[in-house]
Amino acid sequence: MRTQGKGHCPLLLVADNIHKRFRSGEGFLEVLKGASLALDAHSLAVLSGPSGSGKSTLLYIIGGLEKPDIGEVTYKGDFVWDFGADRLDRYRNRNVGFVFQMHYLMPDFTALENVMMPGLIAGLSFYEASQKGKELMTQLSIYDRKDHYPNQLSGGEQQRTAVARALVNSPELILADEPTGNLDRENAESLLKLFEKLVETTGVSILIATHDTRVAESGGVTFTLSSGRIDTKTG
Ligand code: ADP
Ligand code: MG
Repeated sequence: MRTQGKGHCPLLLVADNIHKRFRSGEGFLEVLKGASLALDAHSLAVLSGPSGSGKSTLLYIIGGLEKPDIGEVTYKGDFVWDFGADRLDRYRNRNVGFVFQMHYLMPDFTALENVMMPGLIAGLSFYEASQKGKELMTQLSIYDRKDHYPNQLSGGEQQRTAVARALVNSPELILADEPTGNLDRENAESLLKLFEKLVETTGVSILIATHDTRVAESGGVTFTLSSGRIDTKTG
């Protein structure tokens, strides 16, 4: 399989020959039919394709949330779908961070508490989670919103809070599913710039699934899903 991106970055994640179908009425809906992609460490990539093409399904398979029918996902050379339950949990909670179109912030907790939560679940002390959360919120320019509740934040601030939350356990991979879907153009562009900055400054890799062709132009590598398979374009 080819490596993607510039330079000689080692591969972080490979999805190889992924097949997935869902039961649909009497028969099956074949969503992924041999989809493959390879993601470098320290890279920004876009998974594009029209609505219903299988982007979310592939993201869930990559993130260890949904099992492929056929095919392998390897994270730093290890087969994700061979992990035992404990290792798979750690993979989902620590190696990977998720950002969704709907931020899913918990309404009864402040922005900072939302950011801290996955850290607390992963075993950080309250102090450590709070320090890490504040550091991230500073980096993402939302520190002054840390004591606000989600409904007191703008859409862009909510999404930045969700990004901070995804980063709290220092994952090496962020999977962002239509992260700009609920944002106006200005906020969408600002979030994409933030992703670029994070890749540069923290070395995280980010894979953005989107049906928005404007977003699709922003990654270094674009994976286009069509008819259940992927076409790779290195930008
Ligand atoms: P995208 O994210 O590109 O819009 P999805 O991966 O969400 O696409 O969905 C691809 C197709 O698979 C859609 O037709 C969707 O309805 C179907 N699908 C997704 N998840 C399920 C499921 N759990 N059961 C049945 N069908 C599903
Ligand atoms: Mg989707």
